[in-house]
Amino acid sequence: MSGGTACRDRRVHRPAWRVLVRRANYSAFNGYHRTPSDYSELCCRTCGAVWRTKAAYVDTVPDAEDGDYA
Ligand SMILES: [Zn+2]
Repeated sequence: MSGGTACRDRRVHRPAWRVLVRRANYSAFNGYHRTPSDYSELCCRTCGAVWRTKAAYVDTVPDAEDGDYA
């Protein structure tokens, strides 16, 4: 992962965005159980960015499918 750097070109790449984890956390400290959160984790399939956000636009981004995972 990139460590949280957001998409390099939000205007152009936005159609390639996918939600990896919607409104939740997966933490190594609790055995990777899903924990509800305000934040979602997104990825950009064009530039490879992965970032977390609680912005409203998450609701307009589709969930990732199996083929979307790097
Ligand atoms: Zn991008």
